Amino acid sequence: MDLSQPAIDIINPIKTSVFELFKIGPGPSSSHTIGPMKAAYDFLQLIRSDFEEKCNSVSKIKCQLFGSLSATGKGHGTDRAVLAGLLGWLPESTDPEEFSKLWDVKVHDININEQKSIVFHESDIIFDALQHDFDFSNTLIFSLRDENDTVLCSKKYYSVGGGFIQWENWEEPEVGTPPYRYRSMGELKKIMADTNISLHRIILENEKAISGLSEKEIYTKLEAIIEAMCNAIERGIYAEGVLPGFIKLSRKAPRVFKRAHSMPNTPDSFLIFLNAYSLAASEENAAGNIVVTAPTSGASGVIPGVIYMLRHHFHHRTKHIADSLLASAAIGFLVKHNASISGAEAGCMGEIGTAAGMAAALLAYAAGYSIDVLEMASEIAIEHHLGMTCDPVGGFVQIPCIERNAVGAVKSYNAYLLASSGDPGKQKVTLDQVIKTMRETGRDMSTKYKETSQGGLALNLTEC
Ligand code: SF4
Repeated sequence: MDLSQPAIDIINPIKTSVFELFKIGPGPSSSHTIGPMKAAYDFLQLIRSDFEEKCNSVSKIKCQLFGSLSATGKGHGTDRAVLAGLLGWLPESTDPEEFSKLWDVKVHDININEQKSIVFHESDIIFDALQHDFDFSNTLIFSLRDENDTVLCSKKYYSVGGGFIQWENWEEPEVGTPPYRYRSMGELKKIMADTNISLHRIILENEKAISGLSEKEIYTKLEAIIEAMCNAIERGIYAEGVLPGFIKLSRKAPRVFKRAHSMPNTPDSFLIFLNAYSLAASEENAAGNIVVTAPTSGASGVIPGVIYMLRHHFHHRTKHIADSLLASAAIGFLVKHNASISGAEAGCMGEIGTAAGMAAALLAYAAGYSIDVLEMASEIAIEHHLGMTCDPVGGFVQIPCIERNAVGAVKSYNAYLLASSGDPGKQKVTLDQVIKTMRETGRDMSTKYKETSQGGLALNLTEC
Protein backbone atom coordinates (compact mmCIF):
# COMPACT_ATOMS: atom_id res chain seq x y z
CA MET A 1 0.00 0.00 0.00
CA ASP A 2 1.12 3.57 -0.75
CA LEU A 3 1.40 5.08 2.74
CA SER A 4 0.66 8.56 1.42
CA GLN A 5 -2.74 7.40 0.22
CA PRO A 6 -4.73 6.31 3.26
CA ALA A 7 -7.81 4.18 2.77
CA ILE A 8 -9.94 6.78 4.59
CA ASP A 9 -9.11 10.47 4.69
CA ILE A 10 -9.85 11.40 8.28
CA ILE A 11 -9.70 15.02 9.42
CA ASN A 12 -7.96 15.47 12.80
CA PRO A 13 -6.82 11.86 13.11
CA ILE A 14 -5.32 10.50 16.33
CA LYS A 15 -1.69 11.61 16.54
CA THR A 16 -0.76 10.58 20.07
CA SER A 17 2.54 8.79 20.52
CA VAL A 18 2.70 5.36 22.15
CA PHE A 19 5.31 6.90 24.48
CA GLU A 20 2.84 9.43 25.77
CA LEU A 21 0.67 6.56 27.03
CA PHE A 22 3.52 4.46 28.42
CA LYS A 23 5.88 6.65 30.41
CA ILE A 24 8.46 5.60 32.97
CA GLY A 25 8.36 7.82 36.06
CA PRO A 26 7.63 8.11 39.77
CA GLY A 27 4.20 7.28 41.18
CA PRO A 28 1.67 7.59 42.60
CA SER A 29 -0.53 9.53 40.15
CA SER A 30 0.59 10.64 36.71
CA SER A 31 -1.71 13.66 36.69
CA HIS A 32 -0.48 14.62 40.17
CA THR A 33 3.23 13.77 39.84
CA ILE A 34 4.47 13.34 36.26
CA GLY A 35 2.29 16.15 34.85
CA PRO A 36 3.19 18.71 37.58
CA MET A 37 6.87 17.69 37.43
CA LYS A 38 6.89 18.32 33.67
CA ALA A 39 5.08 21.64 34.17
CA ALA A 40 7.63 22.75 36.80
CA TYR A 41 10.50 21.64 34.57
CA ASP A 42 9.00 23.61 31.67
CA PHE A 43 8.65 26.72 33.86
CA LEU A 44 12.28 26.36 34.95
CA GLN A 45 13.39 26.26 31.29
CA LEU A 46 11.20 29.30 30.59
CA ILE A 47 12.73 31.42 33.34
CA ARG A 48 16.22 30.21 32.53
CA SER A 49 15.84 31.30 28.90
CA ASP A 50 14.24 34.63 29.75
CA PHE A 51 15.89 35.53 33.02
CA GLU A 52 18.24 38.37 32.06
CA GLU A 53 15.65 40.72 30.63
CA LYS A 54 12.78 40.31 33.01
CA CYS A 55 13.74 39.00 36.29
CA ASN A 56 16.65 40.65 38.01
CA SER A 57 14.41 41.67 40.89
CA VAL A 58 13.05 38.16 41.33
CA SER A 59 13.10 36.86 44.86
CA LYS A 60 10.74 33.90 44.79
CA ILE A 61 8.88 31.33 42.75
CA LYS A 62 5.37 30.34 43.74
CA CYS A 63 3.21 27.50 42.54
CA GLN A 64 -0.57 27.50 43.06
CA LEU A 65 -2.39 24.19 42.75
CA PHE A 66 -6.10 24.08 41.87
CA GLY A 67 -8.86 21.49 41.60
CA SER A 68 -7.96 17.97 42.57
CA LEU A 69 -4.28 18.95 42.64
CA SER A 70 -5.24 21.06 45.63
CA ALA A 71 -7.63 18.53 47.15
CA THR A 72 -5.34 15.50 46.97
CA GLY A 73 -1.97 16.94 46.00
CA LYS A 74 -0.48 16.39 49.46
CA GLY A 75 -1.36 12.73 49.50
CA HIS A 76 -0.27 12.25 45.91
CA GLY A 77 3.10 13.96 46.40
CA THR A 78 2.36 16.82 43.99
CA ASP A 79 4.44 19.20 46.12
CA ARG A 80 7.43 16.86 45.84
CA ALA A 81 6.93 16.52 42.07
CA VAL A 82 6.78 20.31 41.64
CA LEU A 83 9.99 20.74 43.60
CA ALA A 84 11.71 17.99 41.58
CA GLY A 85 10.74 19.70 38.30
CA LEU A 86 12.00 23.06 39.57
CA LEU A 87 15.28 21.38 40.45
CA GLY A 88 15.55 20.29 36.81
CA TRP A 89 14.58 16.65 37.25
CA LEU A 90 12.59 14.78 34.62
CA PRO A 91 10.23 11.89 35.45
CA GLU A 92 11.97 9.21 33.39
CA SER A 93 15.41 9.85 34.89
CA THR A 94 14.42 10.52 38.50
CA ASP A 95 16.15 8.46 41.16
CA PRO A 96 13.31 7.09 43.34
CA GLU A 97 15.37 7.18 46.53
CA GLU A 98 16.45 10.81 46.06
CA PHE A 99 12.88 11.68 45.10
CA SER A 100 11.44 10.16 48.28
CA LYS A 101 13.80 12.25 50.44
CA LEU A 102 13.22 15.61 48.75
CA TRP A 103 11.13 17.30 51.44
CA ASP A 104 13.36 16.05 54.23
CA VAL A 105 14.97 19.44 53.57
CA LYS A 106 12.37 22.22 53.70
CA VAL A 107 14.31 24.84 51.73
CA HIS A 108 15.98 24.36 48.36
CA ASP A 109 17.98 26.54 45.97
CA ILE A 110 16.58 26.67 42.44
CA ASN A 111 19.48 27.40 40.14
CA ILE A 112 18.58 29.79 37.37
CA ASN A 113 22.07 30.36 36.05
CA GLU A 114 25.64 30.40 37.35
CA GLN A 115 25.13 33.69 39.17
CA LYS A 116 21.54 33.43 40.34
CA SER A 117 19.57 31.00 42.44
CA ILE A 118 16.18 31.43 44.10
CA VAL A 119 15.35 30.06 47.53
CA PHE A 120 12.27 27.84 47.39
CA HIS A 121 10.32 26.97 50.56
CA GLU A 122 7.71 24.30 51.08
CA SER A 123 5.21 27.14 51.71
CA ASP A 124 5.81 28.48 48.18
CA ILE A 125 3.51 25.69 47.00
CA ILE A 126 -0.05 26.85 47.64
CA PHE A 127 -2.93 24.40 47.78
CA ASP A 128 -5.46 26.79 46.28
CA ALA A 129 -9.17 26.65 45.30
CA LEU A 130 -10.87 23.34 44.65
CA GLN A 131 -13.59 24.93 42.49
CA HIS A 132 -12.50 27.24 39.69
CA ASP A 133 -13.29 28.34 36.15
CA PHE A 134 -10.10 27.21 34.43
CA ASP A 135 -10.33 24.98 31.38
CA PHE A 136 -9.17 21.82 33.21
CA SER A 137 -9.64 20.63 36.78
CA ASN A 138 -5.95 20.04 37.47
CA THR A 139 -4.51 23.53 37.03
CA LEU A 140 -1.15 24.89 38.20
CA ILE A 141 -0.02 28.51 38.06
CA PHE A 142 3.70 29.16 38.41
CA SER A 143 4.81 32.72 39.05
CA LEU A 144 8.03 34.62 39.51
CA ARG A 145 7.65 37.32 42.14
CA ASP A 146 9.69 40.17 43.57
CA GLU A 147 10.24 40.75 47.26
CA ASN A 148 6.88 42.60 47.53
CA ASP A 149 5.14 39.52 46.15
CA THR A 150 4.36 41.33 42.88
CA VAL A 151 4.01 38.87 40.03
CA LEU A 152 6.68 39.53 37.38
CA CYS A 153 5.69 36.73 35.08
CA SER A 154 3.53 33.64 35.31
CA LYS A 155 2.37 30.66 33.32
CA LYS A 156 -0.76 28.57 33.72
CA TYR A 157 -0.50 24.82 33.11
CA TYR A 158 -3.07 22.05 32.95
CA SER A 159 -2.29 18.49 33.95
CA VAL A 160 -4.80 16.76 31.70
CA GLY A 161 -4.29 13.14 32.74
CA GLY A 162 -1.76 10.39 32.14
CA GLY A 163 1.12 12.83 32.73
CA PHE A 164 0.15 14.97 29.74
CA ILE A 165 0.39 18.72 30.22
CA GLN A 166 -1.01 21.66 28.32
CA TRP A 167 -0.94 25.38 29.07
CA GLU A 168 -2.95 28.48 28.37
CA ASN A 169 -3.18 28.98 24.58
CA TRP A 170 -1.60 25.54 24.12
CA GLU A 171 -1.72 24.26 20.59
CA GLU A 172 -1.34 20.68 19.53
CA PRO A 173 2.36 20.36 18.62
CA GLU A 174 3.21 19.74 15.00
CA VAL A 175 3.96 16.07 14.55
CA GLY A 176 4.35 13.94 11.48
CA THR A 177 1.22 12.88 9.70
CA PRO A 178 0.34 9.27 10.49
CA PRO A 179 -0.12 7.17 7.36
CA TYR A 180 -3.15 5.40 8.88
CA ARG A 181 -5.73 7.95 9.98
CA TYR A 182 -8.55 7.02 12.32
CA ARG A 183 -10.50 8.36 15.26
CA SER A 184 -12.71 5.38 16.05
CA MET A 185 -12.50 1.60 16.20
CA GLY A 186 -14.89 1.49 13.23
CA GLU A 187 -12.41 3.50 11.14
CA LEU A 188 -9.44 1.47 12.40
CA LYS A 189 -11.15 -1.79 11.47
CA LYS A 190 -11.94 -0.46 8.00
CA ILE A 191 -8.26 0.39 7.46
CA MET A 192 -7.32 -3.12 8.54
CA ALA A 193 -9.92 -4.68 6.24
CA ASP A 194 -8.86 -2.50 3.27
CA THR A 195 -5.12 -3.00 3.70
CA ASN A 196 -4.83 -6.42 5.36
CA ILE A 197 -2.19 -4.93 7.67
CA SER A 198 -2.00 -6.09 11.30
CA LEU A 199 -2.97 -3.79 14.16
CA HIS A 200 0.49 -3.58 15.69
CA ARG A 201 2.00 -2.72 12.28
CA ILE A 202 -0.53 0.10 11.81
CA ILE A 203 0.30 1.56 15.23
CA LEU A 204 4.03 1.08 14.54
CA GLU A 205 3.93 2.86 11.16
CA ASN A 206 1.94 5.69 12.70
CA GLU A 207 4.43 5.91 15.59
CA LYS A 208 7.34 6.21 13.17
CA ALA A 209 5.63 9.16 11.48
CA ILE A 210 4.47 10.83 14.71
CA SER A 211 7.68 10.50 16.76
CA GLY A 212 10.24 10.44 13.95
CA LEU A 213 11.81 7.39 15.59
CA SER A 214 13.05 4.41 13.60
CA GLU A 215 11.48 0.98 14.04
CA LYS A 216 14.56 -0.17 15.95
CA GLU A 217 14.39 2.83 18.30
CA ILE A 218 10.70 2.22 18.94
CA TYR A 219 11.30 -1.42 19.88
CA THR A 220 14.23 -0.41 22.11
CA LYS A 221 11.97 1.99 23.98
CA LEU A 222 9.16 -0.59 24.19
CA GLU A 223 11.58 -3.13 25.64
CA ALA A 224 12.71 -0.57 28.25
CA ILE A 225 9.06 -0.01 29.16
CA ILE A 226 8.39 -3.75 29.49
CA GLU A 227 11.52 -4.12 31.66
CA ALA A 228 10.47 -1.19 33.86
CA MET A 229 7.01 -2.78 34.31
CA CYS A 230 8.55 -6.14 35.23
CA ASN A 231 11.13 -4.51 37.52
CA ALA A 232 8.36 -2.76 39.45
CA ILE A 233 6.64 -6.12 39.96
CA GLU A 234 9.85 -7.87 41.00
CA ARG A 235 10.56 -5.16 43.59
CA GLY A 236 6.96 -5.14 44.79
CA ILE A 237 6.49 -8.89 45.31
CA TYR A 238 9.36 -8.92 47.83
CA ALA A 239 8.88 -5.47 49.44
CA GLU A 240 7.30 -5.96 52.85
CA GLY A 241 6.20 -3.08 55.06
CA VAL A 242 3.85 -0.16 55.28
CA LEU A 243 3.14 2.34 52.51
CA PRO A 244 3.72 6.08 53.04
CA GLY A 245 0.94 8.17 54.57
CA PHE A 246 -1.36 8.21 57.57
CA ILE A 247 -3.43 5.22 56.40
CA LYS A 248 -0.50 2.95 57.35
CA LEU A 249 -1.59 0.46 54.72
CA SER A 250 0.50 -2.71 54.73
CA ARG A 251 1.75 -4.00 51.43
CA LYS A 252 -0.01 -7.24 50.57
CA ALA A 253 1.66 -8.33 47.31
CA PRO A 254 4.44 -10.39 49.04
CA ARG A 255 1.91 -12.37 51.06
CA VAL A 256 -0.35 -12.99 48.05
CA PHE A 257 2.67 -14.02 45.96
CA LYS A 258 3.84 -16.47 48.65
CA ARG A 259 0.35 -17.93 48.86
CA ALA A 260 0.25 -18.51 45.08
CA HIS A 261 3.64 -20.23 45.27
CA SER A 262 2.52 -22.51 48.06
CA MET A 263 -0.46 -23.81 46.10
CA PRO A 264 -0.71 -26.53 43.50
CA ASN A 265 -0.91 -25.32 39.90
CA THR A 266 -4.66 -24.65 39.64
CA PRO A 267 -6.93 -21.94 38.16
CA ASP A 268 -6.97 -20.42 41.65
CA SER A 269 -3.17 -20.16 41.84
CA PHE A 270 -3.11 -18.64 38.35
CA LEU A 271 -5.49 -15.89 39.45
CA ILE A 272 -3.65 -15.35 42.72
CA PHE A 273 -0.38 -14.90 40.81
CA LEU A 274 -2.04 -12.36 38.51
CA ASN A 275 -3.44 -10.53 41.55
CA ALA A 276 0.00 -10.55 43.21
CA TYR A 277 1.72 -9.07 40.15
CA SER A 278 -0.80 -6.25 39.79
CA LEU A 279 -0.74 -5.53 43.52
CA ALA A 280 3.08 -5.44 43.46
CA ALA A 281 3.31 -2.80 40.70
CA SER A 282 0.50 -0.76 42.29
CA GLU A 283 2.17 -0.83 45.68
CA GLU A 284 5.41 0.35 44.11
CA ASN A 285 3.41 3.17 42.57
CA ALA A 286 1.82 4.02 45.93
CA ALA A 287 5.31 4.13 47.45
CA GLY A 288 6.30 6.78 44.88
CA ASN A 289 8.76 4.43 43.19
CA ILE A 290 9.42 4.12 39.47
CA VAL A 291 6.55 2.60 37.50
CA VAL A 292 5.14 2.91 34.00
CA THR A 293 1.95 4.83 33.27
CA ALA A 294 -0.39 2.38 31.57
CA PRO A 295 -2.12 4.62 30.71
CA THR A 296 -1.84 6.42 34.10
CA SER A 297 0.20 5.85 37.26
CA GLY A 298 -2.93 5.08 39.28
CA ALA A 299 -3.60 2.25 36.82
CA SER A 300 0.03 1.14 36.57
CA GLY A 301 -0.64 -2.38 37.88
CA VAL A 302 -3.17 -3.73 35.36
CA ILE A 303 -1.18 -4.04 32.11
CA PRO A 304 2.14 -4.85 33.87
CA GLY A 305 0.39 -7.66 35.79
CA VAL A 306 -0.90 -9.14 32.55
CA ILE A 307 2.46 -8.71 30.80
CA TYR A 308 4.33 -10.39 33.67
CA MET A 309 1.88 -13.26 33.44
CA LEU A 310 2.41 -13.59 29.67
CA ARG A 311 6.18 -13.55 30.11
CA HIS A 312 6.54 -15.89 33.09
CA HIS A 313 3.55 -18.22 32.81
CA PHE A 314 2.94 -18.31 29.03
CA HIS A 315 6.59 -17.71 28.06
CA HIS A 316 5.86 -15.15 25.36
CA ARG A 317 8.96 -13.50 23.92
CA THR A 318 9.59 -9.81 24.58
CA LYS A 319 9.16 -8.90 20.88
CA HIS A 320 5.73 -10.53 20.82
CA ILE A 321 4.75 -8.73 24.03
CA ALA A 322 5.99 -5.45 22.49
CA ASP A 323 3.77 -6.04 19.44
CA SER A 324 0.81 -6.76 21.71
CA LEU A 325 1.57 -3.61 23.72
CA LEU A 326 1.45 -1.61 20.48
CA ALA A 327 -1.94 -3.17 19.69
CA SER A 328 -3.22 -2.30 23.19
CA ALA A 329 -2.13 1.32 22.68
CA ALA A 330 -4.85 1.64 20.02
CA ILE A 331 -7.48 1.23 22.77
CA GLY A 332 -5.77 3.84 24.97
CA PHE A 333 -5.68 6.28 22.04
CA LEU A 334 -9.37 5.78 21.29
CA VAL A 335 -10.40 6.39 24.91
CA LYS A 336 -8.05 9.34 25.32
CA HIS A 337 -9.39 11.04 22.21
CA ASN A 338 -13.08 10.20 22.56
CA ALA A 339 -13.55 10.14 26.35
CA SER A 340 -10.81 10.56 28.98
CA ILE A 341 -8.08 8.55 30.70
CA SER A 342 -8.03 10.96 33.65
CA GLY A 343 -9.63 10.18 37.02
CA ALA A 344 -10.14 13.94 37.45
CA GLU A 345 -12.22 14.03 34.25
CA ALA A 346 -13.95 10.65 34.13
CA GLY A 347 -13.50 9.01 37.52
CA CYS A 348 -11.83 5.64 37.86
CA MET A 349 -13.52 4.18 34.77
CA GLY A 350 -11.16 6.50 32.83
CA GLU A 351 -8.10 5.01 34.55
CA ILE A 352 -8.67 1.40 35.63
CA GLY A 353 -11.45 0.96 33.04
CA THR A 354 -9.18 2.04 30.20
CA ALA A 355 -6.26 -0.02 31.53
CA ALA A 356 -8.50 -3.11 31.70
CA GLY A 357 -9.72 -2.48 28.15
CA MET A 358 -6.14 -2.17 26.95
CA ALA A 359 -5.05 -5.28 28.88
CA ALA A 360 -7.92 -7.33 27.45
CA ALA A 361 -6.91 -6.21 23.95
CA LEU A 362 -3.28 -7.08 24.71
CA LEU A 363 -4.26 -10.59 25.83
CA ALA A 364 -6.40 -11.16 22.72
CA TYR A 365 -3.63 -9.92 20.43
CA ALA A 366 -0.93 -11.97 22.16
CA ALA A 367 -3.09 -15.08 21.74
CA GLY A 368 -3.50 -14.37 18.02
CA TYR A 369 -7.20 -13.56 17.95
CA SER A 370 -8.86 -11.38 15.30
CA ILE A 371 -9.52 -7.65 15.59
CA ASP A 372 -13.20 -8.48 16.24
CA VAL A 373 -12.30 -10.54 19.31
CA LEU A 374 -9.84 -7.87 20.43
CA GLU A 375 -12.54 -5.21 20.12
CA MET A 376 -15.05 -7.35 21.99
CA ALA A 377 -12.55 -8.08 24.79
CA SER A 378 -11.73 -4.43 25.34
CA GLU A 379 -15.38 -3.41 25.03
CA ILE A 380 -16.43 -5.92 27.71
CA ALA A 381 -13.63 -4.84 30.03
CA ILE A 382 -14.51 -1.14 29.73
CA GLU A 383 -18.29 -1.71 29.83
CA HIS A 384 -18.01 -3.29 33.25
CA HIS A 385 -16.10 -0.36 34.67
CA LEU A 386 -18.62 2.27 33.52
CA GLY A 387 -19.62 4.62 36.32
CA MET A 388 -16.70 3.67 38.56
CA THR A 389 -15.88 6.66 40.72
CA CYS A 390 -12.53 7.94 41.89
CA ASP A 391 -12.51 8.42 45.66
CA PRO A 392 -8.98 7.81 46.97
CA VAL A 393 -8.94 7.77 50.76
CA GLY A 394 -6.91 10.66 52.16
CA GLY A 395 -5.82 11.55 48.61
CA PHE A 396 -3.41 8.60 48.63
CA VAL A 397 -3.37 6.28 45.61
CA GLN A 398 -3.88 3.29 47.91
CA ILE A 399 -7.52 2.65 48.84
CA PRO A 400 -9.29 1.71 46.59
CA CYS A 401 -6.60 2.06 43.93
CA ILE A 402 -4.25 -0.85 44.73
CA GLU A 403 -6.86 -3.60 44.93
CA ARG A 404 -8.67 -1.99 42.04
CA ASN A 405 -5.63 -2.65 39.83
CA ALA A 406 -5.66 -6.33 40.81
CA VAL A 407 -9.41 -6.62 40.23
CA GLY A 408 -9.01 -4.73 36.93
CA ALA A 409 -6.34 -7.17 35.74
CA VAL A 410 -8.53 -10.18 36.60
CA LYS A 411 -11.51 -8.49 34.96
CA SER A 412 -9.46 -7.90 31.81
CA TYR A 413 -8.55 -11.59 31.75
CA ASN A 414 -12.20 -12.52 32.13
CA ALA A 415 -13.19 -10.09 29.36
CA TYR A 416 -10.59 -11.74 27.13
CA LEU A 417 -11.99 -15.21 28.00
CA LEU A 418 -15.57 -14.08 27.36
CA ALA A 419 -14.63 -12.53 24.00
CA SER A 420 -12.48 -15.43 22.83
CA SER A 421 -15.20 -17.93 23.81
CA GLY A 422 -18.04 -15.89 22.31
CA ASP A 423 -19.20 -14.74 18.92
CA PRO A 424 -18.12 -11.17 18.11
CA GLY A 425 -20.71 -11.08 15.30
CA LYS A 426 -23.44 -11.29 17.92
CA GLN A 427 -21.97 -8.72 20.32
CA LYS A 428 -24.50 -5.90 20.62
CA VAL A 429 -22.21 -3.21 22.07
CA THR A 430 -19.30 -1.82 20.05
CA LEU A 431 -16.13 -0.36 21.51
CA ASP A 432 -17.00 3.03 20.04
CA GLN A 433 -20.39 2.95 21.78
CA VAL A 434 -18.91 2.07 25.14
CA ILE A 435 -16.29 4.82 24.84
CA LYS A 436 -19.03 7.33 23.97
CA THR A 437 -20.92 6.10 27.03
CA MET A 438 -17.83 6.60 29.17
CA ARG A 439 -17.54 10.19 27.94
CA GLU A 440 -21.18 10.96 28.73
CA THR A 441 -21.08 9.19 32.11
CA GLY A 442 -17.91 11.08 33.04
CA ARG A 443 -19.54 14.37 32.06
CA ASP A 444 -22.57 13.63 34.27
CA MET A 445 -20.51 12.38 37.23
CA SER A 446 -20.40 14.66 40.28
CA THR A 447 -17.08 16.44 40.76
CA LYS A 448 -16.76 14.87 44.20
CA TYR A 449 -16.11 11.51 42.53
CA LYS A 450 -13.33 12.80 40.29
CA GLU A 451 -10.10 12.47 42.25
CA THR A 452 -11.05 15.08 44.83
CA SER A 453 -11.41 12.76 47.87
CA GLN A 454 -14.65 14.64 48.63
CA GLY A 455 -16.99 11.64 48.36
CA GLY A 456 -17.38 7.86 48.43
CA LEU A 457 -14.84 5.80 50.36
CA ALA A 458 -12.76 8.90 50.99
CA LEU A 459 -15.57 10.20 53.22
CA ASN A 460 -16.75 6.96 54.77
CA LEU A 461 -13.38 5.48 55.66
CA THR A 462 -12.47 7.98 58.31
CA GLU A 463 -10.90 5.54 60.79
CA CYS A 464 -7.67 4.15 59.36
S1 SF4 B 1 -9.60 5.60 42.46
FE1 SF4 B 1 -8.92 4.99 40.39
S2 SF4 B 1 -8.79 6.92 39.22
FE2 SF4 B 1 -8.86 7.43 41.42
S3 SF4 B 1 -6.70 7.67 42.02
FE3 SF4 B 1 -7.36 5.54 42.46
S4 SF4 B 1 -6.79 4.38 40.61
FE4 SF4 B 1 -6.74 6.54 40.04
